[in-house]
Amino acid sequence: MTFITRFAPSPTGPLHLGHAYSALLAHDMARSKDGVFLLRIEDIDQTRSRPEWEAQILNDLAWLGLNWPAPVMRQSDRMQTYSDALQTLWQRGLLYPCTCTRRDVAASASAPQEGAPLLGPDGIVYPGTCRPAPGTQPKGPMPADTALRLDMRAAERAIGAPPHFTETGASPKGETGRIQSDWEQVRQGIGDIALARSAMGTSYHLSVVLDDAAQSVTMVPRGADLFEATTIHVILQRLLDLPTPVYHHHRLIRDGEGKRLAKRDDARAISRYRQDGLTPALIREMLDMPHAPS
Ligand code: GLU
Ligand code: ZN
Repeated sequence: MTFITRFAPSPTGPLHLGHAYSALLAHDMARSKDGVFLLRIEDIDQTRSRPEWEAQILNDLAWLGLNWPAPVMRQSDRMQTYSDALQTLWQRGLLYPCTCTRRDVAASASAPQEGAPLLGPDGIVYPGTCRPAPGTQPKGPMPADTALRLDMRAAERAIGAPPHFTETGASPKGETGRIQSDWEQVRQGIGDIALARSAMGTSYHLSVVLDDAAQSVTMVPRGADLFEATTIHVILQRLLDLPTPVYHHHRLIRDGEGKRLAKRDDARAISRYRQDGLTPALIREMLDMPHAPS
């Protein structure tokens, strides 16, 4: 089996140091294993994606010394695939429509008896307002213009065994190897995440899982901030009968004050370092990475 890694930027802002670290890591891993490094453009959010950002990101990655095979997969070309997968999940009674606004979710999650709302990988854990009672899953055609949520209780019944994957980096608790979640923790800490938003017809989670499978990705290096999202991805892989790659969660690149780098942090944009005359080798040094493999 060919070792295949990928870097999957969203063209919604500049490539910053943290992205460069992920990309270089994925690239170096592939080179050291005689594998393939792929690039994918995650542009499902058409309101925030810009061709200028995409061009700049590709340019910065090439400047860093990375190369990848063409054609580059782009998510906006794959909407039919995402909608087919939603149909499959819908027909199996795993989804339900949700008409709550963000404000509704915040209000019912912080009802006085509930205490502070729990935060999951997608923000406030959905309190289940629209969730159908077991056995009353909606039938009929899948509604097109509403958010669709994954019923985690139904997912648990469908999958049974708790989701697990192999970690070669480290979990936030420093664990490596076989990482297993438990369903209780999934229900409490992740909850019924939205797999489709009304304006988007898909979600980051659904797309990323279908794309990694379509590109036969075997290793996903990504920041530790996505560790919880990985559990969602493994659940979707089980439900959609897709292989689970190995995951490598890596340290987050922080600024001088130890703060996480936000996308908008232009001071850490690779383009700024380029303007300031830094070289790719110096960027690798700043990131504490070995020199480019030959
Ligand atoms: N587009 C995502 C990002 O930029 C990809 C992360 C991932 O799935 O590894 O954060
Ligand atoms: Zn709802």
